[in-house]
Amino acid sequence: MDLSRFARRRYTSFVTPLEPLPRFSAALAASCPGGRGPEVWIKRDDMLGLFPGGNKTRKLEFLVADALGQGADTLITCGAPQSNHCRITLAAAAREGLKCRFVIEERVPGSFSETASGNHFMFRLMGVESLTVVPAGSNMAQAMQAQADALAAQGRKGYIVPGGGSNALGGLGYVACAQELQQQFFDMGVQIDRVVVGSGSSGTHGGLLAGFLGNRIHIPIVGIGVSRDPADQEPLVHKEAQAVADLLNLNMVVPRDAVLSIGGYWQPKYSVPNPMMVEAVQMLARTEGIPLDPVYTGKIMAGLIGLSRQGYFKPGERVLFLHTGGLPSVHAFERVLLDGPPA
Ligand SMILES: *Cc1c(COP(=O)(O)O)cnc(C)c1O
Repeated sequence: MDLSRFARRRYTSFVTPLEPLPRFSAALAASCPGGRGPEVWIKRDDMLGLFPGGNKTRKLEFLVADALGQGADTLITCGAPQSNHCRITLAAAAREGLKCRFVIEERVPGSFSETASGNHFMFRLMGVESLTVVPAGSNMAQAMQAQADALAAQGRKGYIVPGGGSNALGGLGYVACAQELQQQFFDMGVQIDRVVVGSGSSGTHGGLLAGFLGNRIHIPIVGIGVSRDPADQEPLVHKEAQAVADLLNLNMVVPRDAVLSIGGYWQPKYSVPNPMMVEAVQMLARTEGIPLDPVYTGKIMAGLIGLSRQGYFKPGERVLFLHTGGLPSVHAFERVLLDGPPA
């Protein structure tokens, strides 16, 4: 598939590592049926560029190129109070000499704090131009448009980056990742049987799926929901994958049954800790020295662990975990990650 016809900025000057996790796999096997579990590999998208990077870095390479092409001077986006997406968008703006504004949705009432650590601290450090907090369930598109209108009234030009960077253009970032993986599998001579990804605003899951289908990569993708159970999540991912395929002129109907997501690991609520997440974060940190975050990748890895213990993967099956980043929020959840969530 030819991505070169799309304008792209580059924020990572290398291919992110693809590595086996032998000590983690051994610890996991010990708790699986018959003492045997999958052979787990990791794709280190937590090492992508931009302060520190994560999956949003890949999407923003295409979105920011589009913003610059349109002559924008300001990026406008939205997210939760500890949004990785907001942080990375702001870092891209700084890098490009653009201003940046956020609309922050207080999805968990009372969760916004002006003095919070983690991503919120970085919003301040990197000089966000304005930060507007709105209650859960607000119309975010409308709130971002109001910011764009306010800028236009001053003769400026805002560019709205959708939540999570998940539209067709942003999804191209994970088509690029699919191509990067295909090359790595070939170069390293490694055969992966299944990929486990987080599934939230759906650009990562949907973009990767479109990239796999378009490149004829026949590896099933399992999405672990971080905010929705399958009945709500799968249609969203399907729509995203189709939009990406259409943008690429693939002339393809994305099969509905290629979209698989798993629920039950994100509860009690988006971003609110649970004991399985804490176990997953501690387990990877203590066996491999690789940190996960409490809001996304800790719950996604909890899904991989839970599925392994249910015998969902065949023993010895090679399962690739996509590490999508999110590290700054560990600092907003330090006690929980050491001591577990309050009962
Ligand atoms: C945003 C995010 C996700 C979810 O990706 P989507 O493309 O929104 O589905 C997963 N992990 C981390 C660390 C994120 O910041």
